[in-house]
Amino acid sequence: MTIVTPELLTRYDVSGPRYTSYPTADRFVDAFGEQDYVLALGQRRQSPVGKALPLSIYVHIPFCESLCYYCACNKIITKHHDRADVYLRYLQREIDLHTAHCGVGQMVSQIHFGGGTPTFLSDAGLRDLMGMLRSSFTLVPGGEYSIEVDPRTVDADRLALLAELGFNRLSFGVQDFDPEVQKAVHRIQPAEQVFSLVESARSIGFDSVNVDLIYGLPKQTPESFDRTLAQVAELRPDRIALYAYAHLPERFKAQRRIVWADLPMASSKVSMLARSLEAFSTAGYVYVGMDHFALPEDALAVAKRQGRLHRNFQGYSTQPDCDLIGLGVSAIGRVGATYSQNAKTLEDYYDLLNQGRLPVVRGLALTRDDLVRRAVIMAIMCQGELLFEPLEQAWLINVRDYFASELEQLKELEQQGLVMVSNEGLEVTAMGWYFVRAIAMVFDRYLQADKNRARFSRII
Ligand code: SF4
Repeated sequence: MTIVTPELLTRYDVSGPRYTSYPTADRFVDAFGEQDYVLALGQRRQSPVGKALPLSIYVHIPFCESLCYYCACNKIITKHHDRADVYLRYLQREIDLHTAHCGVGQMVSQIHFGGGTPTFLSDAGLRDLMGMLRSSFTLVPGGEYSIEVDPRTVDADRLALLAELGFNRLSFGVQDFDPEVQKAVHRIQPAEQVFSLVESARSIGFDSVNVDLIYGLPKQTPESFDRTLAQVAELRPDRIALYAYAHLPERFKAQRRIVWADLPMASSKVSMLARSLEAFSTAGYVYVGMDHFALPEDALAVAKRQGRLHRNFQGYSTQPDCDLIGLGVSAIGRVGATYSQNAKTLEDYYDLLNQGRLPVVRGLALTRDDLVRRAVIMAIMCQGELLFEPLEQAWLINVRDYFASELEQLKELEQQGLVMVSNEGLEVTAMGWYFVRAIAMVFDRYLQADKNRARFSRII
């Protein structure tokens, strides 16, 4: 078992991108718009390779019934469920615009409903939405069809409906089982409720059940979080995602309701993370990488062992990289060598669709350098290995020249035992997997440029 010390965590568990894309979404520009996106869709339609690869679809449902104070998502708090009916009509328009550009019946091997709260939709709403997708696209058997589930909005019957609609993966937002913490973040969901839902999900036969946890929340202590960890180990979900809470009240209004004095100190946060790593490892979970754990028999852990892991906007995946269509307000897509993002407010999103336009308002056309670095960062994050020769052949570069300063920077991480660099390539060590973000960040040209700018402005 790899022992990750609090000292190492303090040093290398840096805040930084989660690399669900490279370049990351904060690098998207307003100059990329609908026309660029349409061009990318057209190229996909004309390319035999593009057409042959199944699509991935993300649908954003922005509504939530009540506000969680730690929230940093794009959501709309409302108790008016009829707002979702209007939203579904606009989603239909957006789907129709896509099929006008890509054709009806494109193969889809991955769907994810995220939010907000996808289960804010009524049974009829969920049925309608899946019906819309099925009549416009062809869902391939054996695909990953997942949905984020707020335990407060479902019961066993609703889970059965999700299975009937074709979902085979559920992700429950748990965060913490401690009642005091739940009160402090305004999200009350008794542990018994989650236990009973996970049991129902198992008897219904979902392929995989994921639980999301957050450490660093108000009223959390290492001891209280230990109790949550023990409960999660008993619950035994197939996958666990453990995120750090970042308190940024100036950016996220909801977080202003959190009492600052209730937040755990940095040293307590590090201790919670170290204890979580140990608890999940003792409970038999495999550390997949970047905040994710899975049971050894889960498809994600198997894919990691076999070097078949991929990474997309939903995190780690077993599905090969494919074009992603993002539907709904603020949704992000990836088509060919582009990223695109929809309008962030409902008003703008509806407005553009009323004009018969795809609601893409920003994005990025990747440069050759972006593509090289994306390949490098994804190889590090997913395979924990980067072989120089195939990279040189694929991109006609000399790795030692192209990445001279990056290889220099890696020396410190190598000394700490996080990575091994040889003439053939680099390999992330067992310890390095826990800090894979720090290794990937070395190859992020935009971050390095920011660092140089900050250094430059300090000097002058
Ligand atoms: S954390 Fe999730 S459920 Fe809570 S307000 Fe934010 S989006 Fe809604």
